[in-house]
Amino acid sequence: MHHFHYSQGGLFVEDVSLQSLAEKHGTPLYVYSKGTITSHFTRLDAALSGLDHLICYAVKANSNLAVLATIARLGGGFDIVSGGELYRVIKAGGDPRKCTFAGVGKTREEIAYALDQGIYCINAESEAELRHINQIAGELGKKAPVAVRVNPNVDAKTHAKITTGKSENKFGVDFENILDVYARAAAECQHLELRGLQMHIGSQLTSVEPFVEAVRKVVPLVQEVKARHGIQFFSIGGGIGINYRQSLDSGPESWWQENENLHPLTIQAYADAVTPLLQPLGLRILCEPGRFMVGNAGALITRVLYEKRGAAKIFKIVDAGMNDLIRPTLYEGWHQIVPLKQPATGEVEKADIVGPICETGDFLAQNRELPPVQAGDYLAVLSAGAYGFTMASNYNTRPMPAEVLVDGAKATVVRERQTLDDVLKGERVE
Ligand SMILES: *Cc1c(COP(=O)(O)O)cnc(C)c1O
Repeated sequence: MHHFHYSQGGLFVEDVSLQSLAEKHGTPLYVYSKGTITSHFTRLDAALSGLDHLICYAVKANSNLAVLATIARLGGGFDIVSGGELYRVIKAGGDPRKCTFAGVGKTREEIAYALDQGIYCINAESEAELRHINQIAGELGKKAPVAVRVNPNVDAKTHAKITTGKSENKFGVDFENILDVYARAAAECQHLELRGLQMHIGSQLTSVEPFVEAVRKVVPLVQEVKARHGIQFFSIGGGIGINYRQSLDSGPESWWQENENLHPLTIQAYADAVTPLLQPLGLRILCEPGRFMVGNAGALITRVLYEKRGAAKIFKIVDAGMNDLIRPTLYEGWHQIVPLKQPATGEVEKADIVGPICETGDFLAQNRELPPVQAGDYLAVLSAGAYGFTMASNYNTRPMPAEVLVDGAKATVVRERQTLDDVLKGERVE
């Protein structure tokens, strides 16, 4: 689901021409559709209506304050993985009492900050961390709400770099040890309140089976932990995959009809599969989508700088690089790339779309059939709303791109393009 479509010969997001945004704000430029984010939130919320549930948006997918504020206003909670992300959520008007804190390496400062802010739950990923949280809570005179993340050892059948629920991954506590960990925490950690149990098996899952397998495996454990320790919630994590191939010729509603059916994993299928397994638990169910909420809501706009016709390949050299969008390099991520000017014919040529960074791995697409585009033309790299800007860096001393949020006919710069002085801030010569 998204609000990107061709109209009047050009690509629009909602009611705004992307060409006009590119000309006004320069490139590379991230553009997000508020309507897409809102629609994804409300559709998932409705799909989960058979459960007492809370959507905790995974902030790491896209942490722009305006994105977080959009989700906070819809009543969403947040899944954070650092003190910095909690700081952002609070700045954006999010409620810490709807936040969970994940991650294997939380520091003393981050744990103390989260407890001070009254976070809903800290999801511990090891017994050592539980003891650390207990100690800090004791020092602060608080009781720390905690859950333990279980590693269910199921194969999410996704890319190796985004699989998290196998025993060889660093995440969570082994399934076999969970009950002992809870028992020891209950007996020995008086500053902890055992509030829930959490799992997250991976990202960009495109079938419902791994979710079902993991839930089926973990539900009896949740029942046991509930009986023994009186927990309030079970979090099933995030990981709902999105469709990276889009139809751009129709408006959002018909797009939803067409593409929901094409997608191997629809949220209705997801909800229908997990609801009957989870309902009997009588617990609050947390769901932590990141990519699903924002992935299709964003595009990275870039301009063609040069064309190079080499002996073996055609290269389109563009002004966005792996420092702006690292998914193709890091995860072999496939992004649909389309010209902002609607192609008049079906003519295509095969090219590599590469950035200006001095790395062979700096590409946005390889061997891609693309309508003929020339220097000066703009391209949209679609479905770049998740793990796009948040993974951007200043590599090659390149300023971070600007970000624009579109809401109907209104476009707001929600993060200004960095200046070179911004990039150098804090540095000095001896
Ligand atoms: C990254 C992460 C998520 C979100 O994953 P998506 O695939 O973006 O939905 C949810 N929960 C935890 C613990 C995570 O680390």
